[in-house]
Amino acid sequence: MPALDIVRIPVLSDNYVWLVHDSASGATMVVDPAVADPVLAVAATRGWTITDIWNTHWHPDHTGGNAAIKEATGCTITGPAAEFARIPTLDVQVQGGDTVRLGNHVASVWDVPAHTAGHIAYHFADDAAIFVGDTMFAMGCGRLFEGTAEQMFANMQKLGALDDATRVYCAHEYTLSNARFAVTVDPDNDALVARLAAVEAARAAGEATVPTTIGVERATNPFLRAPSAAELGRIRALKDAA
Ligand code: ZN
Ligand code: FE
Repeated sequence: MPALDIVRIPVLSDNYVWLVHDSASGATMVVDPAVADPVLAVAATRGWTITDIWNTHWHPDHTGGNAAIKEATGCTITGPAAEFARIPTLDVQVQGGDTVRLGNHVASVWDVPAHTAGHIAYHFADDAAIFVGDTMFAMGCGRLFEGTAEQMFANMQKLGALDDATRVYCAHEYTLSNARFAVTVDPDNDALVARLAAVEAARAAGEATVPTTIGVERATNPFLRAPSAAELGRIRALKDAA
């Protein structure tokens, strides 16, 4: 089976929309379109027709392009059943344990509540890729708007159990801010200190820093490395106040 083509589309101030194409079937999916026009433009440039949108959670910077992309393409919109009331454009409601397909590529749906109460992630196990929305970021995790530190800790444990090589497609370029915070809570972590320097150089050069991988996050992400929900909650509160 050919690998998925995964294209990063930077939109708004710091969002990443992911365009995912299966060359065997021609199926093309968008994860969390904040807006429509740049996504439609990139798809057109590649000669791809968008067949699906997959949403991770209801926030407008993840769903704002749903209606216009559907209007332009007739695509099918899949998203969290628990947030149906807040994503009126959904066609297909899914929850943890369900599977969704892009051609012959199969993704399992994970429930990862905390950033929002119904937040989900999409894991392509055979492709070693997971689309996490606003649950995990490079050296960070999502804010706890509708859930608890206990829930986010459980999410981090589950993500941290994936293979090191698994690519993590998060929805924002928050890496530099996260790295600068992370070194304040884990100052003796040599891998983290080195990553901060690399990220500073990459951002100064205008380069994106995601996707990341589970292995890199396991070495450097203080939220993934937190030994308890209490510790995760403590550093999340510090970051919120930073
Ligand atoms: Zn969000
Ligand atoms: Fe977001």
